[in-house]
Amino acid sequence: MHHDMIQDLAEVLITEEAIAHRVRELGAEISRDYCGKELVLAGVLRGALFFLADLARAISIPLAIDFISISSYGPTTKASGVVGIRKDLDESIGGRDLLVIEDIVDTGLTLSYLLKIFRVRQPSSLQVCTFLDRKVRRIIDLPLAYRGFEIPEKFVVGYGLDYDQRYRNLPCIGILKPEVMGR
Ligand code: 5GP
Repeated sequence: MHHDMIQDLAEVLITEEAIAHRVRELGAEISRDYCGKELVLAGVLRGALFFLADLARAISIPLAIDFISISSYGPTTKASGVVGIRKDLDESIGGRDLLVIEDIVDTGLTLSYLLKIFRVRQPSSLQVCTFLDRKVRRIIDLPLAYRGFEIPEKFVVGYGLDYDQRYRNLPCIGILKPEVMGR
């Protein structure tokens, strides 16, 4: 399965099984913390797609699902300068408990932009759940209420994360071989 894509990997950093296990833990934690609240999951497209889908099913309390898409400069590997909103949330979040679902927080620039635009809409609470956290690269320090895994400096793909729109459907998180990235 996924044979050709797996062959492009130098290393599998996080297995499908480890992801499933961690997502269940996060789901249980969020279910406890948000019991009795008006939880809205706001997924950041497109990277958070699978994480949100799995996480939502691991949460046992009622919730709403929404998505936002932002535009940034340039292709995947170096993208960090957010330009604007391509597709906004459909839900109004005033008075509700917004949990932003991110694929990865790297420099923190993207997330800081998102938190700024969400904060003015006055949700009851505003927290972040990121699948991956590359803390060593952080420029803006942001509180992450939930995170799946902390990862090292290297560029990763899989489980929603792409390289030039490919590898999003890999069920694991991997590091690409250098020759693939130059191709
Ligand atoms: P930040 O604004 O925190 O620097 O970057 C966040 C965004 O950059 C992520 O949402 C993601 O789209 C992209 N990104 C950062 N690191 C990686 C990575 O290792 N792999 C992939 N595929 N995208 C990344």
